[in-house]
Amino acid sequence: MTCPICHAETNPSFRPFCSKRCADVDLAKWLGGSYAIPSENPDDFDELMDELEKAKSEETPPRLS
Ligand SMILES: [Zn+2]
Repeated sequence: MTCPICHAETNPSFRPFCSKRCADVDLAKWLGGSYAIPSENPDDFDELMDELEKAKSEETPPRLS
């Protein structure tokens, strides 16, 4: 078996990768891919937007006086 990132021989400690570095590269790829797709679940996306709106309003409280 070879590393899917760099095609070197797989290290049993990091299978299916050859090293921690390649495992990290693969993880980063997955995370990058998930950012490209906001959410597969529309309900989760709405909740996320609500949280963002809440966070924004807490960040800049209205100054009325
Ligand atoms: Zn590798």
